[in-house]
Amino acid sequence: MVAPGLRLGAERLFEMPAVLERLSRSNSTSQAFAEVLRLPKQQLRKLLYPLQEVERFLAPDRRQDLHLRIFDPSPEDIARADKVFTATEGNRIDYVSSAVRIDHAPDLFRPEVVCFIGRSNVGKSSLIKALFSLAPEVEVRVSKKPGHTKKMNFFKVGKHFTVVDMPGYGYRAPEDFVDMVETYLKERRNLKRTFLLVDSVVGIQKTDNIAIEMCEEFALPYVIVLTKIDKSSKGHLLKQVLQIQKFVNTKTQGCFPQLFPVSAVTFSGIHLLRCFIASVTGNLD
Ligand code: GDP
Repeated sequence: MVAPGLRLGAERLFEMPAVLERLSRSNSTSQAFAEVLRLPKQQLRKLLYPLQEVERFLAPDRRQDLHLRIFDPSPEDIARADKVFTATEGNRIDYVSSAVRIDHAPDLFRPEVVCFIGRSNVGKSSLIKALFSLAPEVEVRVSKKPGHTKKMNFFKVGKHFTVVDMPGYGYRAPEDFVDMVETYLKERRNLKRTFLLVDSVVGIQKTDNIAIEMCEEFALPYVIVLTKIDKSSKGHLLKQVLQIQKFVNTKTQGCFPQLFPVSAVTFSGIHLLRCFIASVTGNLD
């Protein structure tokens, strides 16, 4: 499932210092990413490949359970994906609109769409803000007050794809979820991938299971993103990662086998997630 042209990632990072040297001088690498590449290697790995960082603390016989390198882009690919997420005159990244019903959703000029779903408070707005940090003008709208109608928010990423931020589900928003999210997920044909956010501190909750069942029932290709990984000790994070990975391996059909751990605070995993989005929407080919 690796996009064509993607080469091994973390290993290259450590075996080929020249790659980093070349990249940090390359014109195709943004200033921000060039700075990232100057981090000490250990820190760089933690930032770019958090799941492989977690793997280092696993007993060898448990490592085979984790799908670590299905998507394993090189630092060059990650740099290219960062460009896709960088707002420039020729690559406008904007909030487009909000909608409460699918027939109010914008008719987007590019078919590729990725959407983000998750329980309220899972860290969805923080993650979307982190993904758009290279487009500081983008305003990620949040409506959290009880009683406020929750909306789907649409963001256009240049001519590349659209990001849809779905209303959070759970305790306060079951109706929104069924009426809006379910209808959207069922009917939107140009939906390339659904990113289902799970809080890495508490693991998969009852309401997450409802969303997982829905993705499975509609045969949607989806990915589990583990949020807030900075909040846990290494031991707790390892335990959660293994539990969730086991669930994905044994109980799901449509879920991408590799987990994507992220932190909106330390930015760990954010570059890799950008790269995965760029890849599934055909922007790294
Ligand atoms: P949403 O309801 O899913 O949009 O969640 P928010 O993005 O508003 O986050 C809910 C709470 O979790 C807020 O207090 C955030 O500051 C916090 N939060 C979100 N992401 C992270 C993260 O990666 N690390 C930490 N430590 N806190 C986070």
